[in-house]
Amino acid sequence: MRTALFPGSFDPFTLGHLDILERGLRIFDRIEVTVAINSSKKPLFEPEERCVLIEACVAHLDGVSVHSFEGLIAAHARERKAVALLRGLRQVSDFEYERPMASANRKLLPGLETVFLLPAQKYGLISSTIVRDIHRWGGDVSAFVPGPVLEALRSKR
Ligand code: ADP
Repeated sequence: MRTALFPGSFDPFTLGHLDILERGLRIFDRIEVTVAINSSKKPLFEPEERCVLIEACVAHLDGVSVHSFEGLIAAHARERKAVALLRGLRQVSDFEYERPMASANRKLLPGLETVFLLPAQKYGLISSTIVRDIHRWGGDVSAFVPGPVLEALRSKR
């Protein structure tokens, strides 16, 4: 059984995240979506709400579990016996942000690989930040997020 962690803020989970997760499942037997708890940021959705929403978005997929976590992701990977971290790459700026993190994680846990996947082109410009901004001003985000997230955003208004 090869397990990967898919760590991220997922505030909120988007169709781009779902696309990366579905691609990752063709490579790994199990993927644990790891919702990062960052107590210094005021999130749109609390970590527990994000977990519940992601669970609803991935209900059709086998081999996926969802947890929240605060701390070093490499320590969590060791504990969960994960062989890789899964991350998505949209553009060059993502690579510049990801590369030092991947290198640090490999130093912290030798053998822990970071696997980068490219989303389908139609999802390549979606980000949680853009979704939050459009939502804040009452715009339609139905092209960017799965159904359960769309409903949760509507009921937040
Ligand atoms: P973080 O705060 O850790 O960057 P995010 O929730 O923004 O958390 O992203 C988690 C992972 O998903 C990152 O690797 C990010 O590059 C990737 N990602 C975010 N949006 C997309 C998208 N539209 N397509 C592909 N990958 C994405």
